[in-house]
Amino acid sequence: MKSIKNMELKNKKVIIRCDFNVPIKEGKIIDDTRIKASLETIKYCQEKQAKIILLSHLGRIKEQNDLEKNNLKPVAKRLEELLKTKIFFSEETRGKTLEEQINQLKPKEILLIQNTRYEDLNGKKESGNDEELGKYWASLGEVFINDAFGTIHRAHASNVGIASHLPSAVGLLVEKELNALGILENPPHPFVVVLGGAKVEDKIGVIGNLVKKADKILIGGGMAFTFLKAEGYEIGSSLLDKENIAFCTKILKEYANKIILPVDVAVTTEYSEKEEYKIKEINEISYNEMGLDIGPKTKEIFENNLNHAQIVVWNGPLGVYEFNKYKKHTKEILEYLIENKIKTILGGGDIVAAATKEGLKEKVYHASTGGGATLEYLEGKKLPGLEAIK
Ligand code: AMP
Repeated sequence: MKSIKNMELKNKKVIIRCDFNVPIKEGKIIDDTRIKASLETIKYCQEKQAKIILLSHLGRIKEQNDLEKNNLKPVAKRLEELLKTKIFFSEETRGKTLEEQINQLKPKEILLIQNTRYEDLNGKKESGNDEELGKYWASLGEVFINDAFGTIHRAHASNVGIASHLPSAVGLLVEKELNALGILENPPHPFVVVLGGAKVEDKIGVIGNLVKKADKILIGGGMAFTFLKAEGYEIGSSLLDKENIAFCTKILKEYANKIILPVDVAVTTEYSEKEEYKIKEINEISYNEMGLDIGPKTKEIFENNLNHAQIVVWNGPLGVYEFNKYKKHTKEILEYLIENKIKTILGGGDIVAAATKEGLKEKVYHASTGGGATLEYLEGKKLPGLEAIK
């Protein structure tokens, strides 16, 4: 994959596609992790004397009302604070004023363009990868750097579109993600996969791809109950993905020695934190109970399987971590991996949110910034944002 380090940037107008899709409430940024993650590439371009043009989407734009709450301006202000430098901002996503602003840029100066999805109001031009829009944005620069890992699995005008018309490379953040995930192409063994989260449906592709490479797949979270149902257990009112019972039966039959399911669970009668929970063996769940976390015996079995792993990839929490009562075993297994220095990749989304909540994110080997992108990578799919650069 072509890296920014191989590009000539001096005095060039360099368009960087960043991921500034941050939560904003009443004009205030609540979590600036993604902005901070983009700084390395921006600073690199400054050092190389590039004229820097930043593009990003923010939220979804379906109607006029979505414009103001998804205005990128607060990001310009936060970038100014973090970089201690003036950030020029363009209210327009195209047109004369924008073009003039770009022509006035001097080396090291930075311009942030308004939310790329403002163009979606006009017939989904950004999200639909409108040919003319990609070409237009490309005409504003001389080099294109894709550093938005979170949207690398999408074909949008601001990534695939621009990359099709300019010399392009990936930025330092995307490079870091690819280096970490690249280990999984030819993983050292034992290679152990931990899967949790809500639906089997979302993980079918991952299971199908990784079950061949992995030595063990440990399944917890809501999705474990569809597997348990397929094994013939009573799962009460636990989460069930009816349409995929047959898939679970098939995969369990084919890979019986690789897949490890919970042997005990924390059950309660209400999807909330109000009720007390009980730890029950997997064959003791009654019709009115639901499992919201794995149990202590399962935790021990999981840890014994992780013990000698050379690499672990983990997608989806093992319980409803949003409730303090049911985050216990997700947190403890994360701590186990960290304490035992087991090389672990957290595959974006909710497991990264859980690790962040517990202050553990920085302690794992790699926590991916892209939920959907990592999932598609783990499924073995081609990522359009990268293909366009290749
Ligand atoms: P995913 O996006 O598939 O990784 O799913 C994450 C969601 O799965 C989180 O919101 C968790 O609360 C939820 N989850 C994890 N374990 C369970 C469970 N046992 N029952 C219901 N939901 C769960």
